[in-house]
Amino acid sequence: MKSSILVFGSTNFLATLPDQILDTNIFSIDIVTSLSQAQSCIHITPIDIILVQASLEGSMELCSWLKEQTKLSCVYCILFEDRPELLTQKSQENWEWELLVNAAALEQGADAYVWQIPENQTTYSLANFAANYQIIIAQFTVGLRKAQKYRDLLDKNALLSAIALADSLTELNNRRALEWDLPRQVQQARTLKDPFSLIILDVDFFKKVNDTHGHLVGDRLLQLLCKRLQNNLRSQDIAFRYGGEEFVVLLTNTSIEEALNIAVRLNRVVDESSFVINNQLSINITISLGVATLEPEDNETGISLLHRADQCLLAAKETGRNKVVSWDEHHHISHLNSVSY
Ligand code: GH3
Ligand code: MG
Ligand code: MG
Repeated sequence: MKSSILVFGSTNFLATLPDQILDTNIFSIDIVTSLSQAQSCIHITPIDIILVQASLEGSMELCSWLKEQTKLSCVYCILFEDRPELLTQKSQENWEWELLVNAAALEQGADAYVWQIPENQTTYSLANFAANYQIIIAQFTVGLRKAQKYRDLLDKNALLSAIALADSLTELNNRRALEWDLPRQVQQARTLKDPFSLIILDVDFFKKVNDTHGHLVGDRLLQLLCKRLQNNLRSQDIAFRYGGEEFVVLLTNTSIEEALNIAVRLNRVVDESSFVINNQLSINITISLGVATLEPEDNETGISLLHRADQCLLAAKETGRNKVVSWDEHHHISHLNSVSY
């Protein structure tokens, strides 16, 4: 992937930049000339390095703005000093003055501050120009290195989150992922005034499978079950492994009626055909399911909703298993509505 460079500067400024920086075979380069253009460009494309022409109106505002955007702390900002008054003063002032100017620029938000001395400045020798050129390239290289490190960090972060939130046996989201997602789904449903429902399901007599065929077969069966459940969910439904042989499905923008249909379908597809472990062994299992939908009185963590669905699951187990149980249409706690086949 090419590193992306944003140049905040005029075409004249662009022409003075070293060829190594403007190599479009290596970098993707965008050029903007106003603060608002720069801001919208940064929001649309992820930028690695921004080169700012100090004499262009809005340059300092851009540096300060970048500093304040915590999400943009990865963008490396190099401020090129080309303001004529400062260039003239630089040739007359001492080292201390230059350090103070440098410090002020960094305090304003730039990550690096370099001088952009016009070639017709006779006060400087060729050796001065060469050294200045070298510092520009060096600062640019620092920016590239920082961008690469940041990308590596992002990749590692994505990998670690995937590991932290996935169940290694079934590859479903794990319980930690549910604890992260459930409150957010509840909040989103409330904000959008959408219905939100939840299914909790558990394999019936799973211990018998382990006792009869061993844990490895039990493991394989869980993997096959998860695949079958996934294949019978809609793309927006998210399944989680809640515990050993217990799963939760979050149903975004789904009424209790739709949720019941989905639960009934899951119940049927598990019951109607066996799970083929190998050439010699196929196993039949059933599942029990509890279904609940979000109510205004539910807490914001979603725990009360989960608890209600769990009570339904318990009722399904107690009244014979292989069935779907939900609250009745009045959502009355004492009235459970069993759907059996
Ligand atoms: P019920 O219908 O009441 O749910 O009966 P059950 O036998 O399914 O329930 P119980 O809670 O008694 O047993 C669940 C079993 O699931 C026991 C446990 O060893 C097994 N189990 C949990 N996680 C795994 C797993 O990752 N792999 C295997 N093979 N078995 C597991
Ligand atoms: Mg069970
Ligand atoms: Mg269980």
